[in-house]
Amino acid sequence: MQPRYKRVLLKLSGEALAGDGKTNISPDVLNYMSAEIKPLLAHGVQVAIVLGGGNIWRGGPAIKAGMEPPQAHYMGMLATIINALALQDALERNGMQTRAMTAIKMDEVAESYIRRRAVRHMEKGRVVILAAGTGNPYFTTDSGAALRAAELDADVILMAKNRVDGVYSADPRTDPKATKFDHITYLDALTRGLTIMDSTALTFCMDNNLPIIVFSLDTPGNLERIVLGEQVGTLISKANTEAPATAG
Ligand code: UDP
Repeated sequence: MQPRYKRVLLKLSGEALAGDGKTNISPDVLNYMSAEIKPLLAHGVQVAIVLGGGNIWRGGPAIKAGMEPPQAHYMGMLATIINALALQDALERNGMQTRAMTAIKMDEVAESYIRRRAVRHMEKGRVVILAAGTGNPYFTTDSGAALRAAELDADVILMAKNRVDGVYSADPRTDPKATKFDHITYLDALTRGLTIMDSTALTFCMDNNLPIIVFSLDTPGNLERIVLGEQVGTLISKANTEAPATAG
């Protein structure tokens, strides 16, 4: 079966790595994620992954408690590097080739991010794990995902969520009347203030016409279904008539 997408940018939140929350990083979750990602490579899809760091550290709460903001944000970016190394280990033990690249230089543990090198790795079938977000304080890894998707010319951003399977009109966990969208425009998502990704990242996606699919990683096989073109989760794009770029 021909995949729908040639190159995808997968955004995984840091919190997802924690699983049931007993540890910061759950080996079971890492193995599950690896098993979900592996079929994409078998379909010839190129994969870049941006990881969050919220399971270890987030700038926001520390800043509220009085920490100097850039310091707190740099700590958050370092947290994403720890996560990247954990995911790299799991992907490789599950038979994939990978490269971890960081937006903050850390030559002993990972390559520095160089766009053309990242592209080359993907062309060779390596999963590229992009750590340290944008490399700049005051941003989030959602912005990192949007930025990297644009510069690496990804066909789509796949926003993996836990405990929610798409974008809803309200929080489905608290509002029984909440309805799920198959499609929503960037502008609609922004004006409704839906918590999909931060507004800086969403605006960037809108300005650069980058389609986003919000989906649940909890359902096994969802990632593969998406790359094969099935309707899963919620597509965020300019108009629902617009088909995201196809492979081949
Ligand atoms: N961060 C940053 N610049 C970036 C990406 C992340 O300063 O480009 C910091 C920010 O403080 C953030 C933390 O790293 O709170 C962890 O990232 P994020 O909250 O995006 O992780 P997630 O919510 O996806 O787990």
